[in-house]
Amino acid sequence: MERLLANAATRAAAYLKGIQIRCANPSPEAVAGLAAFWEPLPSGPTDPSAVLQILDEVGSPATTAMAGARFFGFVMGGALPASLAANWLASAWDQNPGLHLASPVAAELEEVSQGWLLELLGLPPECAVSFVTGATLANFTALAAARNAVLRRVGWNVEADGLFGAPEITVVTGAEAHPSVFKALGMLGLGRERVIQVPVDSQGRMRTELFPELRAPAIVCLQAGNVNSGAFDPAAEIIEKAHEAGAWVHVDGAFGLWAGASPELAHLVSDFAAADSWATDAHKWLNVPYDSGLAFVRDETALRAAMSISAAYLPQGEHREPSNYTPELSRRARGVDIWAAVKSLGRAGIAAMIESNCASARRFAEGLTAAGFEVLNEVVLNQVVVSFGLAAVNEAVVRGVLADGTCWCGRTVWQGRTAMRISVSSWRTTADDVDLSLSAIIRIAREVTNLPSPA
Ligand SMILES: *Cc1c(COP(=O)(O)O)cnc(C)c1O
Repeated sequence: MERLLANAATRAAAYLKGIQIRCANPSPEAVAGLAAFWEPLPSGPTDPSAVLQILDEVGSPATTAMAGARFFGFVMGGALPASLAANWLASAWDQNPGLHLASPVAAELEEVSQGWLLELLGLPPECAVSFVTGATLANFTALAAARNAVLRRVGWNVEADGLFGAPEITVVTGAEAHPSVFKALGMLGLGRERVIQVPVDSQGRMRTELFPELRAPAIVCLQAGNVNSGAFDPAAEIIEKAHEAGAWVHVDGAFGLWAGASPELAHLVSDFAAADSWATDAHKWLNVPYDSGLAFVRDETALRAAMSISAAYLPQGEHREPSNYTPELSRRARGVDIWAAVKSLGRAGIAAMIESNCASARRFAEGLTAAGFEVLNEVVLNQVVVSFGLAAVNEAVVRGVLADGTCWCGRTVWQGRTAMRISVSSWRTTADDVDLSLSAIIRIAREVTNLPSPA
């Protein structure tokens, strides 16, 4: 066991060193090499060190360099050193954090993290916190609490009686809400398509003047950080209107909520603190390993009513029982990586990481604009959407960037236009990484568009 784990650590360290210089995208040969995994069901045992060797030799080259400094796809962070190492130790512990009795350490690290996170993000201290897989499940979990509360207020117990015959819930989102919100609504029986979608402005923000008149029971979903533009919905006015009508306000802040951890950026999210629930990702901007999302719910009773397994089934102690707050009963000890990330960086370190990523995004936007390309969004956070011309040109630039491998950027469609998106969310990214990536992107874009480079 000891030799095997040391072997894994050696391979992992070599991998992380290698992706700093390797192509950000796996080569076609490396992806074709995955054929080696497609063997018949092994009839007998393989030595564990040989298992690890195959995994590293075949698997490692076929990874995208998500843990690297120049991965700018999908708003994905890397894993902070302390968080990755803590995650390994926690895997060795093999704890099931569903109950305090089953794992006191996993349960209490969640409880400690809960207090730290609420303070860090500027959210109400009375919130209950749910440690889930990602923002999709965080949206689901918070909206399940919302469904409970708005129906309870009209005398309906949705957990006991389901939605058959229940009063109809009006659901409002912005037209630019993340697809995971619609998926969560679908899973909750609230429907992906019966939602009122409020039209948005050029940055994807809800247009307050077009917000509908509401009557309870109602749920309003706001967005803090549009996945393309990084923009924030106008929270103050909408939350006030929604609350006057008795609606529950939920916020999808998968990455945008982390602006609250920076004194420089907190003004972007401060108005959202008046909402009722919030979803965010720790595997995005807190830079912990996958999978790690968080739901924060002001009304603990509603969250527990939606998520508790029957009290009779499991013993309830005097401690916070983690499984009273999550869709899952058994799961991994997510609080450990989160605790380690916050402990290692502290408030100042997290603020510095977020501010540095936002400065990198501005540096990208300035460099691309100076080179004559069109940045389509106001760069308020860590997101840059850039167009190099018509759709086919943008497709060709994205293909060229992936083939070149200096950095990784994805294609997106922003308000009907095909474009390239750059998301800066890794603790590793420096100004040098931005400059190296900029020169590769600009060179490729000039080749595609046949623009002469300046003398
Ligand atoms: C990434 C993202 C999600 C989904 O998060 P997962 O962790 O992939 O489930 C939801 N909303 C927004 C705004 C996002 O950026």
